[in-house]
Amino acid sequence: MRIGILALQGAVQDHGRPLARLGAESVEVRRPADLLGLDGLILPGGESTVMGRFLEDYGLVEPIRAFAASGKALWGLCAGAILLCEEVDGQEGILRLLPLKATRNAYGRQLASFEEELDTVIGSFPGVFIRAPRLEARGDDKARGDRAANPMLEILGTRRPPCPEPVLFRFASILAASFHPELTEDLGLHALFLQIIGERLSH
Ligand code: GLN
Repeated sequence: MRIGILALQGAVQDHGRPLARLGAESVEVRRPADLLGLDGLILPGGESTVMGRFLEDYGLVEPIRAFAASGKALWGLCAGAILLCEEVDGQEGILRLLPLKATRNAYGRQLASFEEELDTVIGSFPGVFIRAPRLEARGDDKARGDRAANPMLEILGTRRPPCPEPVLFRFASILAASFHPELTEDLGLHALFLQIIGERLSH
């Protein structure tokens, strides 16, 4: 598999190694033509305002939306997840591919960066949060994460009680995480991303 890593800004380098360990090739994406022949695209962590501006300057917004519309997989991490959201801090998001709203830097000064175990679809996972956003389903807040109200948005990971808020979402072939699996030794979520791509390729 060939996975693109959006390489405009941010934590670009850290995804190559987990992907290689799982047998996937990674290529850096800077311009629309780089999307050709890719099976999936990772939008890494970094600074979402800077990355968003570069996406527009490099003419990547519509090509990435078309890439997603063709059913290809995307995975946004932290700032990359913010880029995918429909709504960011009350404003319209950049790519608007996920029915989520992001609150940037939601954890304040004390908790700006923290590590804690998460409960995910693949079991316990080390969550590394760096000036992370809070990601929430849009719409009726009471129905947040309710499959019946929002059948296609799945919550694949949460923090543990007393704050079991969602931190990992899947929407069709798009994943969004508010944390940084590439900074851990656990390959499980990169493997999950490749599995989502594999499901599609085998159809
Ligand atoms: N705070 C950053 C933003 O709002 C995200 C930080 C990260 O990607 N680790 O864009």
